[in-house]
Amino acid sequence: MKQKLALHWQILIGIVAGIAIGILCLQFNEGKSFVLDWIKPFGTIFINLLKLIAIPLIIVSLIKGISDLKDVTQLSRMGIKTFAIYITTTVIAVSIGLILVNLIQPGTFLNENTRQEMLSSFGGEIQQKVDQVNEIQEKRGPLQVLVDIVPENIFSAMSSNSNMLQVIFFSLLIGIAMVSLPFSEIEPLKKITDAANLVVLKVVDIMMLFAPYGVFALIATLIVESPSTDMFKALSMYAVTVILGLLIIVYGIYGSIIFLFGKRNPLDFFRAILPAQLLAISTSSSAATLPVTMECAEENLKLRKDVISFVLPIGATINMDGTCLYQGIAAVFIAQVMGYDLTLAQQLSIVLTATLASIGAAAVPGAGILMLVIVLESIGVNPAGIALIFAIDRPLDMLRTATNVTGDVMVATLMNGNSEKDISA
Ligand code: ASP
Repeated sequence: MKQKLALHWQILIGIVAGIAIGILCLQFNEGKSFVLDWIKPFGTIFINLLKLIAIPLIIVSLIKGISDLKDVTQLSRMGIKTFAIYITTTVIAVSIGLILVNLIQPGTFLNENTRQEMLSSFGGEIQQKVDQVNEIQEKRGPLQVLVDIVPENIFSAMSSNSNMLQVIFFSLLIGIAMVSLPFSEIEPLKKITDAANLVVLKVVDIMMLFAPYGVFALIATLIVESPSTDMFKALSMYAVTVILGLLIIVYGIYGSIIFLFGKRNPLDFFRAILPAQLLAISTSSSAATLPVTMECAEENLKLRKDVISFVLPIGATINMDGTCLYQGIAAVFIAQVMGYDLTLAQQLSIVLTATLASIGAAAVPGAGILMLVIVLESIGVNPAGIALIFAIDRPLDMLRTATNVTGDVMVATLMNGNSEKDISA
């Protein structure tokens, strides 16, 4: 029988082919427009497919996951533990970011001409973003974060991928109601939910047949649309700082946690989640990667289904260690370049605001840099400073998304051990 190539190999081949074709097309006059006209649409279709399934997947897997639990007590125990680990790792991540950026001081490596050039060339676009965020901010009171979680209409919440928290809230409610009622009374609904879950997972399998081609198209487009290498050079120390931080989190912190508390070989863990990491790199979206993240957790790591369906959809939306670390580094870098001298208190307030900003960031490309505006405002740095890092944001977004996704699976692996104890207790 013909053996099917593993998903991570398929995706890897898609990435390599995308890079090759992207570079090749850049050598010809019409190459860029060829990619944009004939290859890019397939990438867009792939992203649309992933987004299309993200909301149904979150709804059915959360409802199924919760209704599979023994009772509400087990749910609250799992919920509190998951949330506590999510927050702890996020705070660790931003702290590592702040230590690195203060040690390396990437802001001191940028020369004056490049800095001015960057600020002026991106001014308009950035101002637009800053205005957008200011507009949202003006209307917000201190408790608006909570108000935003509760939808007034589930259909309008489902109509946009940036309302994931509202969809999660609704699914949690339904799940809690189901687990609180006697099984005999909700049996038909439980059967429908279980069947719907199977159907959604099958749809994901079907979509994944298209993954290598979708990834190829996304990467080829990214190559032809990427900014000039001069920008990359100027920002290289900043990028190195972020990448170093992400590597420390993934291979240092997560690796040790998996070894010490998850009681697993870190190498097996990283091998198991490679397809999700590669897809996160290709799509820059934790939400779009969620179907594959769940598949890796179930098929490769053999985690418990109730843990997967509870921990991962919530994690994709609120647990973003990579984004948080990046926001800490970016905020200090921008302050360094713009000549602000940050006090210790200001740096500590970055820990708080970046944690909240990463929780609030939607799991879509570029969400991190938009939320960075809030972090900058909280420390009194002009948010227009994000102009400085705009050019290099996409590659860093790819890597921080892979970190975010890895963090979610790491927590699911920990909760897997924990929940077994819960059940036998
Ligand atoms: N793209 C990231 C994610 O989906 C969020 C970010 O922009 O940092 O996880």
